Amino acid sequence: MSALPFLPFALPEIGEEEIAEVVDSLRSGWVTTGPKAKRFEQAFGEFLGDSSLHCIAVNSATAGLHLALEAIGIGPGDEVITTTHTFTATAEVVRYLGADVRLVDIDPATLNLDLDQVEAAIGPKTRAIIPVHYAGLAVDMLRLLDIARRHGLKVVEDAAHALPATLERELIGTLGSHAAVFSFYANKTMTTGEGGMLVTRDAALAERAKVMRLHGMNRDAFDRFTAKKPSWYYEIVAPGYKYNLTDIAAALGLHQLKRLQAFQARREQIAQAYFEGLADLPLILPPRAPEGDVHSWHLYVLRLSEGAPVSRDTFIERMYAQGIGCSVHYVPLHLHPYWRERYQLSPAQFPQSQRAYEAMVSIPLYTAMKDDDVQRVIQAVRHSLQA
Ligand SMILES: *Cc1c(COP(=O)(O)O)cnc(C)c1O
Repeated sequence: MSALPFLPFALPEIGEEEIAEVVDSLRSGWVTTGPKAKRFEQAFGEFLGDSSLHCIAVNSATAGLHLALEAIGIGPGDEVITTTHTFTATAEVVRYLGADVRLVDIDPATLNLDLDQVEAAIGPKTRAIIPVHYAGLAVDMLRLLDIARRHGLKVVEDAAHALPATLERELIGTLGSHAAVFSFYANKTMTTGEGGMLVTRDAALAERAKVMRLHGMNRDAFDRFTAKKPSWYYEIVAPGYKYNLTDIAAALGLHQLKRLQAFQARREQIAQAYFEGLADLPLILPPRAPEGDVHSWHLYVLRLSEGAPVSRDTFIERMYAQGIGCSVHYVPLHLHPYWRERYQLSPAQFPQSQRAYEAMVSIPLYTAMKDDDVQRVIQAVRHSLQA
C-alpha cells in the first residue's frame, strides 16, 4: 500500500547536546549517581519554579511511586484508591508494600478518575489516593485535595504523563499533594531512557525517600566520595532499595529539560493539527485542557463513535497496513488476570472505563514527527474509517 517507511507509535528526540553530555559523563568517571544527578534535581526544581520543593531523582517513576508510598507509611491493612484506567505501575507499588488497591471508574469526559466515586470508595482502611493525570490532562486537584483533607488522606500523584501540564495556571507537581512523581521513560514527554522524579514539599518525606532510594543508607554516594568529613563511614537505617538515577541518565535529562517547553509547543501544534484534520470523522476526540491551562499531550487518544463503520481492532490493523503504529492506553486494570482475580473485578463495575477501552486508540504524537508525518496519520485515520 505504501512505500513510506513505518511510522512508529513513539520515538524519543535525542539531540547532539544530550549525546555530548552523555559522552562527557563517560569520560568523567561519574557513570553512576554523581554531580549531574544533583544538577538535574536542582534544574527540575527550577523548572517547576518552586524553591520549597524537594526533587529526588530515581531510576523510574515506578520507583518514585514506591518510595513516596513507603515514606507516607503505607503498609499491610491499608487501602489506596486509584483509577482502573492506568498502567499497572500505578497500582503495583501499593502491593509491593502489602497494602490493597481500591480501583474506581473514570469520568468519560476527561478519562481521569471519577471524583464522586473516589469519595464513595473511601472507607476505614483508606489511607491514600493516587490520581493519574491521564494522557497529560490534569485531574481536578483542587477538588481531590479537598476530599483528601476532609477524610485525612494522603495524595501521591502519578504524574507520569503530566510534564508540563497545569491546573489553574499552576504546574502539576506544585499543587500541594504529598508527592508527585514524573516519568522519563523512553516514550514520555522527556526522557532519560529510564528515570523518574519524585517531588514533594514535605521535608520528612523527602528525607525518607532519599534514604530508601539507596539501600537505606544515611548518606548517598556523592556525599560519601566528595564530602570533607571522613568518607568511608555510613549507617544503614532501613532495608532500602536501589532506585538511584545514574549520571548517564541525568546527562540526558539536563538537556531534555531545557527543551521541554519547546517539546510541549510542538506537541500542542500536532494536537491542534489532529483536532482540525479529524473533526468531521465518527470519532470522539480527546478532551482539551480548560482555557488557559496546558495539556502536556503525552497521548492523543481517539475513541471510535458508536456509529463508526469499523471496530477498534480493525481500525488499528488498517493503520498498521498503512505503516502507522498505534497503541491502546490502557487495557484497564480490571481486565488483567492479577487484578481481576485478586479483587474479583468485572467490567460491569467499571462501565465507563470498559466502554472507553473498547473504543480507544492512541495515535502517534511526538516531537520527532514531521508535518508530513502528521498529515500522513490524518490521511490514514480517514482511510481507516471508511466502511
Ligand atoms: C509510564 C508510566 C508509569 C511508569 O513509569 P516508569 O518510569 O516506566 O516507571 C507509571 N504510571 C503511568 C500512568 C505511566 O504511564
